Amino acid sequence: MAAEIISGKLISEEIRGNIAEEVQVLASKGFRPGLAVVLIGEDPASHVYVRNKEKACHDLGFYSEVHRLPETASQEEVLTLVNKLNSQDSIHGILVQLPLPKHIDEKAVLNAIAVEKDVDGFHPINVGNLVIGDDSLLPCTPAGVIKLIKRTGIEMSGKHAVVIGRSNIVGKPVSLLLQRENATVTMCHSKTANMAEIARMADILVVAIGRAKMIDASYVKPGAVVIDVGMNRLDNGKLAGDVDYDSAREVAGYITPVPGGVGPMTITMLMKNTLLASKRLNGLV
Ligand code: NAP
Repeated sequence: MAAEIISGKLISEEIRGNIAEEVQVLASKGFRPGLAVVLIGEDPASHVYVRNKEKACHDLGFYSEVHRLPETASQEEVLTLVNKLNSQDSIHGILVQLPLPKHIDEKAVLNAIAVEKDVDGFHPINVGNLVIGDDSLLPCTPAGVIKLIKRTGIEMSGKHAVVIGRSNIVGKPVSLLLQRENATVTMCHSKTANMAEIARMADILVVAIGRAKMIDASYVKPGAVVIDVGMNRLDNGKLAGDVDYDSAREVAGYITPVPGGVGPMTITMLMKNTLLASKRLNGLV
């Protein structure tokens, strides 16, 4: 029997509905969560992502600012802008769209964002809090992955989760969040031997490698939950995940599609983080 589809689109809409309601309540008290996005250069994909974030802010009633800087912007200019946003009361979340032009030091820019406004969860202090299990703003895509698994109703505690990919923005934080849920986690990467064999032991398989359709049914344990984080543009212009959806869904119990799976959850978690940051900064939680 083909796997049940986990619709990130529908789950996302539901969560956004709850966020919009909360924003309305805050608005009636004269207060609006605010997100600032900094976009440097002309990367077409980044422009699309930023437009989507702008739209989400608009739809949910957030205040938003997008600062578009030219490719030639200096590091000093970017840091000056981040510092200004750090001290601006109407802004509760700051997101610097990655990747940055090569002449800008990404670490220096991310470290300059005030920890309490770091709604991407990439500041080393937020990363450190995630590692030691303290309260922090969680990185958006990994937090979205955990929400999607929870919505299957499958208990993560005691299950074997395999994460393929160990990037700082997806694989590593996902593995930490799965451990928080008491799953037993195995990490795979480009040097892993016998990866299909390891993946086939997973009750929960999370894939974030950036290789279109690489993970087919031979990597999937019958009945497993398969979460596909990959977003790859094919030559025909279509989007594809890292999982070979048609093949894997014949074996999996639950599976996310691409598009319409993890993607919409990432922006939704960003909005959730911004709402949370705004309430914290105003002493409302
Ligand atoms: P990344 O930084 O390039 O990391 C890729 C990881 O996959 C690395 O750890 C790499 O291993 C591993 N890997 C690469 N090829 C492999 C192979 N053949 N077998 C096993 N492991 C392999 O990528 P990322 O930023 O984590 O992104 C991964 C995918 O998720 C991309 O398609 C990206 O577009 C997508 N993504 C989607 C969202 C969303 O909102 N839906 C958000 C972020 C990323 P090594 O460490 O050994 O090199």
